[in-house]
Amino acid sequence: MPGYKGSRMETWRNPPARKYSVAVIGGGFSGATLAAQLLRHTGPSFSIVVIERTGLPGRGLAYGTESNAHLLNVAAKDMSAFPDDPEHFLRWAKSNFDCETQPGSFLPRRVYGRYLGTLLSGTVLSDLPTRLQWIRDEARAISQVGNGEIEIQLRSGARVLADKVVLALGNFPASDPCLPGRDAASRPHDLPQRYFSSPWSNPSFAGVEQLDNVLLLGSGLTSMDVAVELRRRGFTGTIHFLSRHGLLPRSHQTHAPWPVFWSERSPKSARGLLHLVREQVREAGRQGIDWRGVINSLRLVTPQIWQSLPETPLPASCAAVLGSPSSSSRT
Ligand SMILES: Cc1cc2nc3c(=O)[nH]c(=O)nc-3n(C[C@H](O)[C@H](O)[C@H](O)COP(=O)(O)OP(=O)(O)OC[C@H]3O[C@@H](n4cnc5c(N)ncnc54)[C@H](O)[C@@H]3O)c2cc1C
Repeated sequence: MPGYKGSRMETWRNPPARKYSVAVIGGGFSGATLAAQLLRHTGPSFSIVVIERTGLPGRGLAYGTESNAHLLNVAAKDMSAFPDDPEHFLRWAKSNFDCETQPGSFLPRRVYGRYLGTLLSGTVLSDLPTRLQWIRDEARAISQVGNGEIEIQLRSGARVLADKVVLALGNFPASDPCLPGRDAASRPHDLPQRYFSSPWSNPSFAGVEQLDNVLLLGSGLTSMDVAVELRRRGFTGTIHFLSRHGLLPRSHQTHAPWPVFWSERSPKSARGLLHLVREQVREAGRQGIDWRGVINSLRLVTPQIWQSLPETPLPASCAAVLGSPSSSSRT
């Protein structure tokens, strides 16, 4: 496959403006699995390009971590990349990671990243086609050109043409709180960097074993990842969490199953769906069933729920330039 050797992406310099059926911008979980599905379900004339600015295929923010202490928050049996083959990941993990892996095991996210990397490496798709191109570059802007084609401009200066474009950009960086001295420029030279806006870079952990206190803004899953990593790296001081609600993530528990309650007639808005889920949680509670059963029952129909929601066109400013709004989320 041009531009793709083994499971590593290569930088593609000065490419011609080639035309593809579909261009996927972002080669994390969504981009990699979408490309794998498109390859499985289309014929030889269908071509795909994935434009990914960092790292390896499928890793993205969630599965790019190198720490074995960062675990999936979903059991192995529910992490298949292929809805029509629900045990695909479980089988792969038994053969390629640990033969003792159980359906209810919570595996390291880096292992899942490796699994995603194999989806396009030829081990899963036996007829690995030349119709897939990976480009390690950053998409900067997209615009409609003649004949209904869409042109994507890349950071390198190259251009790509496509009939359709999928934005699989993942989470955008969180906004920074207003902290005096946060920027290197406004910090006295003798003060080390004390504030890190993202925990997903190694410099934020450098020298932590010498510190007495660390303050984590937020107390959700990412803060748990950071706390675990701090301890793993020898930090013995105090970890403070600052959070609006003061809640910590609840741990997994075995629970009785709850029937699928979503149907095509369910509400088509986020508020309506939230109301529906809350009703079901209350009903489950009345029947002595843990709320986790209600949440887990949604996994079976998550794609259908997404597909049933109305499409809202992107504002023109978003469609034209791929910027970085300030929001971040994790489920
Ligand atoms: C830390 C963390 C842990 C998580 N753990 C789990 C879990 O255990 N189980 C679970 O089910 N879900 C988990 N999630 C939810 C997770 O968001 C999804 O499972 C999934 O990884 C999201 O995939 P994505 O493709 O949308 O984003 P990503 O996998 O992050 O991929 C987005 C990709 O787009 C690329 N990109 C962005 N802009 C451009 C551009 N302009 N040009 C080129 N490339 C670009 C980025 O480099 C990135 O690789 C987790 C999320 C986070 C943040």
